[in-house]
Amino acid sequence: MPPQKTVAIIPAGGAGRRMGTGQAKQYLRLNGRPILAHTLQVFQESGFIDEIILVVPEMDVSRVRREIVNANDFSKISMVLPGGRERQDSVRNGLDAVGEDCRVVVVHDGVRPFPPAALIRRVVAEAGRGRAAIAGVPAKDTVKRADPEGLVLDTLDRRELWLIQTPQAFPAAMLKEAYRKACAENHYGTDDASLVERAGYPVVIIPGDYRNIKITTREDLVVAEHISANIRKRSGRS
Ligand code: C5P
Repeated sequence: MPPQKTVAIIPAGGAGRRMGTGQAKQYLRLNGRPILAHTLQVFQESGFIDEIILVVPEMDVSRVRREIVNANDFSKISMVLPGGRERQDSVRNGLDAVGEDCRVVVVHDGVRPFPPAALIRRVVAEAGRGRAAIAGVPAKDTVKRADPEGLVLDTLDRRELWLIQTPQAFPAAMLKEAYRKACAENHYGTDDASLVERAGYPVVIIPGDYRNIKITTREDLVVAEHISANIRKRSGRS
């Protein structure tokens, strides 16, 4: 039988140093629940995801299994694995554990708690047709390149610029090949798609949502509380 499964890898293996809290940011509370639990809930409820592989800091593996996975009945999570030094190392650990029965891999940051369900559906569908698909939004600000002293080198054409998010979905074999290549050449990219681009495959952007934010700083957490309240109001959940 050809591979059928869609597996989500959720990298949440970072220490979150930019947040300035003692705790890694994926565990900070949003509406009384860890940010990571919000993210996992969306994937647990998606009809387009069969299995979830969660990657967390090595020292947190058993606590996360107990306090986040078991406590919330996240039945799609098949594994909680230790992460690596960089995000790419963490994703690679997850990817190495993906089974032969997997057709599509979706990668989504643990600290991005509001991926719209329709966006997950769209990237998975595109990857199911054989093409890498990533979420992104048009740049609203002007983007310039500058030298280390801050002297402007040039101004990029905003009409061509996208801010890239996760989810990012790939045919499993394509992502594995791209990771193998990057690893062999000790190359680190800033997202998963850049490794696939580097391996020579086309990647398509699926218009995402400005609310699909990555929580990096304290200010992001304040914005996230607002987004969370709005989503609850619209869905009638408390
Ligand atoms: O730090 P950054 O914003 O790039 O993190 C994006 C996601 O990657 C977060 O969910 C973070 O926990 C995860 N990450 C990881 N392993 C690392 C560093 C970051 O899984 N070594």
